[in-house]
Amino acid sequence: MKITMIGSGYVGLVSGTCFSDFGHEVVCVDKDEAKIAALKDGRIPIYEPGLDALVASNVRAGRLSFTTDIKAGVAGADAVFIAVGTPSRRGDGHADLSYVFAAAREVAEAVTGPTVLVNKSTVPVGTGDKVEAIVGEARPDIAIAVVSNPEFLREGAAIEDFKRPDRIVVGTDDIGAQNVMRELYRPLYLNRSPILFTGRRTAELIKYAANAFLATKITFINELADLAEKAGADIKDVSRGIGLDNRIGAKFLHAGPGYGGSCFPKDTLALLRTAEEYDVPLRIVDATVAANDLRKVAMGHKIITALGGDVKGKRIGLLGLTFKPNTDDMRDAPSLSIVPVLRDAGAEIVAYDPEGHETAKAVLDGIGFKDNALAAAEGADALVIITEWDAFRALDLRRIAATMRNPLLVDLRNIYAPDDAERAGLSYVGIGRGASG
Ligand code: NAD
Repeated sequence: MKITMIGSGYVGLVSGTCFSDFGHEVVCVDKDEAKIAALKDGRIPIYEPGLDALVASNVRAGRLSFTTDIKAGVAGADAVFIAVGTPSRRGDGHADLSYVFAAAREVAEAVTGPTVLVNKSTVPVGTGDKVEAIVGEARPDIAIAVVSNPEFLREGAAIEDFKRPDRIVVGTDDIGAQNVMRELYRPLYLNRSPILFTGRRTAELIKYAANAFLATKITFINELADLAEKAGADIKDVSRGIGLDNRIGAKFLHAGPGYGGSCFPKDTLALLRTAEEYDVPLRIVDATVAANDLRKVAMGHKIITALGGDVKGKRIGLLGLTFKPNTDDMRDAPSLSIVPVLRDAGAEIVAYDPEGHETAKAVLDGIGFKDNALAAAEGADALVIITEWDAFRALDLRRIAATMRNPLLVDLRNIYAPDDAERAGLSYVGIGRGASG
């Protein structure tokens, strides 16, 4: 089948490339000329493991191409996907739908025959109805079926997630559109992934419900970690103790510095705004958002406390700046809240991130960037693990301790055992490790 992807960012590029890898013919469209020029040139504008090789092989096979020309891009497509950004609207936290609406209008103006328009962007419940009105007004002469098909992939594991999703959600009552979607996803659900057909509004709400639930789960264990720390318990054992219960499940129970990224913060906020519009209180989500915002800032103060309450003139080495490992994405990363607290308190900050230096430089001032973890530790009064990149999981702790001015490890991801760090000569501060650290 022939597919067009409008928006070639993390979601559009990964989904488009994976669809082409299944044998579909895919055109990825983007307004960003530099992005399309890079892709045409064989360069991948984002860091996502495995994506460069997958793009290259599908381009070589003639199934994947890139353009800024939407008219050429949509010509003859069986389905046109919208995968443009839906960031928080400045000031009020509503999802900014202007990119989605603009893309829908442009698609409607460009198509020449009946079209299935699939919205993959994360959008508030009811957005499909608005998109339907926009395309209906732009092209009353052509049947355009508007489908919701939210995406659940995680950056850093995006290809695997797209190819082997836990489920595929398709929201539409249109039988023809259902058939097109079934055919597009056939290679996936033949393997193992269930495809769930729902109403369009339901599909839209599923995406927000999933993200809000996961954000709540993280925030729950983070707050429990604070209690464990004070009460002399170890949160890692608490997580394991509850996670082995199948009704709870072990995932998303790792205490840390608070969730960030391009989805949870903006999606929880947008869900709250939607709930307000319907006059339905979502008290749990509300508490999650507030607790997480406070937590990210509190992590800066935790580091200051670990350094005796005064960091003026002290050097702090940070390991990891991106919101999670295996991505260069800095959107709403905890480091964005932590760094200003440390900087305002007078600390000198150096940092190393395996892939995030370029993206971090664009959003963080006053950091000295280092080439590796050891260099970030050199002469430092504290070394802080913010993001749990694999490269930080097996550091030579003795060398780290020896190169620091004050051998203090603040491990905001609990990737080290306190005893191991202390044996290597480091004072250790973790998250929620009242029993041992
Ligand atoms: P992104 O910012 O990486 O990419 C969006 C792209 O769309 C940009 O390259 C932009 O230039 C392009 N664009 C905007 N308007 C356009 C137009 N009219 N025509 C052509 N191109 C246009 O965003 P993303 O991270 O890929 O997210 C896209 C959507 O997917 C969002 O709604 C997001 O919430 C959702 N989502 C993201 C993830 C994730 O992990 N990033 C996961 C699931 C869902």
